[in-house]
Amino acid sequence: MVVLALTALFAAAAAVAGTVFAIAWRRRAEAPGFGSIALVAAGAAWWSAASTAPLFLRDHTLMMIGLSVPYLGVCLLVAGWWATARALTDRFWTISRRATVLLAIEPVLCLLALATNPWHHQFIQRLKPTVIDGALAAVFGPLFWVHTLYSYVLIGYSAFIVIRVYIRETGRYRGYLLVVLTSLPSGVINMAGILAGGRIIDLTAVGFAMTAPVIYWLVARQSMPALAPVAHQEVIRNMDDAVIVLDPGQRLVFTNPAANRFLLRLGLATEEDGRVRLPERITGLSPGAEGRHLLRDVHGSGIDFDVRVSPLRDGRGKTAGAIMVARDVTEQNRQREQAERANEQLRTQLATIEALRASLADQAARDYLTGLFNRRHLMGELTTALRAGAGFAIALIDIDHFKRINDGYGHNTGDDVLTRVAGHLVRYLAPGDVAARYGGEEFALLLHGVSGDEAAARVDDLRRTVAAAPIPAGAGPPLTVTFSAGVAVADGRRSAVELIHEADVALYTAKTNGRNRVERATTPVRG
Ligand code: GH3
Ligand code: MG
Ligand code: MG
Repeated sequence: MVVLALTALFAAAAAVAGTVFAIAWRRRAEAPGFGSIALVAAGAAWWSAASTAPLFLRDHTLMMIGLSVPYLGVCLLVAGWWATARALTDRFWTISRRATVLLAIEPVLCLLALATNPWHHQFIQRLKPTVIDGALAAVFGPLFWVHTLYSYVLIGYSAFIVIRVYIRETGRYRGYLLVVLTSLPSGVINMAGILAGGRIIDLTAVGFAMTAPVIYWLVARQSMPALAPVAHQEVIRNMDDAVIVLDPGQRLVFTNPAANRFLLRLGLATEEDGRVRLPERITGLSPGAEGRHLLRDVHGSGIDFDVRVSPLRDGRGKTAGAIMVARDVTEQNRQREQAERANEQLRTQLATIEALRASLADQAARDYLTGLFNRRHLMGELTTALRAGAGFAIALIDIDHFKRINDGYGHNTGDDVLTRVAGHLVRYLAPGDVAARYGGEEFALLLHGVSGDEAAARVDDLRRTVAAAPIPAGAGPPLTVTFSAGVAVADGRRSAVELIHEADVALYTAKTNGRNRVERATTPVRG
């Protein structure tokens, strides 16, 4: 009766653990945690299922075999427990080949010891009947205790690494504590079974089989594989920036893969059979001072590095070396330089455009033949002067009998005369005064800060200068050129047009009075 009940219990436990195994195994690609739980569940399922046979066996040899078979499950479970702890405490953890080999050692030895037990009886010494329906149980030898000690140490260590993360991350991973606690009842059952000295049937397998769904639920529900903390080492390993740690003697203490790649590109490290051989020291790269440095074209490699050097301090705050974090900024620099060059080009172009604009503006203000300002510019200057309210005079100058020069000497000589007279005008100007070609052979002068008499005297002076400077005219004798002028003075009341008109009237007077003379506008004339 009891045997049947126990069989049902083991079978149920095996079914539960088997189901958890199937579900977790299917999700093993999602996170290493699921694969690890599948291992725990597989172990528990095997252990539970294999625990049923010894309940029925009475034959000594068969019983020995029957008692050995569950240990495969025990070994799987213990290894799975450790893997689960690792997966929960390190997001990037996956089982390495080395770890797999190390984990397999004890199970292989354990199973070997069991297989050879009939000869040495060091694992199971003998069988003795239990209190339950004459079912047999084992009396264990020293090898069993070695195996049990190993199993407890590994499970204890697994619990320790989980709790350590739980404490370090100040309770962020609350479910972790539950994961550890789930192993306690099974441990207690196991202890009880062992301490009972083989008088009762060991129910540890059932305990672990029941634990499997709880762990699975905790892991899956709280998506702990995704929440698992990231080990600092893994963060540094996955960084794009090169991280190099040097001791005070510039000896290389640590490099991450990015640093290895950088050192290879710089020719400071070599590669053999896919393994990077690092130099003992890297004095060539390390700038002595702490802080940020830009290293350009390091070792002639064409690579620019942005290097940050910070001191590495020990627990007492003493400098224990330096941490260098280097970033390849070649591309960044190249782009910046390109932008700077484009900018410089743009600045030059802007300067050219500005010069062109100024030249165009000047051309628009000047007369093409004489280079003097043109009439439009003169009118602008006049308006400005009137607005400023300062005193000034305007003189209109007209070359006498210019038509005759054109007719007698040709248009080119006429042009030459215009240019030479313009030259006299310019030389005659005081700073700020304006000379303009008013039209044809007429010029205008804007003289600042002069009275009517002063202006007339100055223009008359200019008239004499021009008359006294004969202009060469081809093969013939030099030409004596004279002009007549009319002068008007601004009095703050008349407009630019009125002033010009007055000066023109005075000029007309000068012409009618015999030319080669200067006349002042006497009476204001209303246009
Ligand atoms: P007046 O003493 O009365 O001023 O006689 P004038 O011959 O100087 O007067 P008029 O206004 O009749 O003649 C001006 C001439 O100036 C007519 C025109 O052909 C000539 N002229 C106007 N612009 C230019 C020019 O740019 N170059 C040359 N060579 N001649 C010009
Ligand atoms: Mg004229
Ligand atoms: Mg004239």
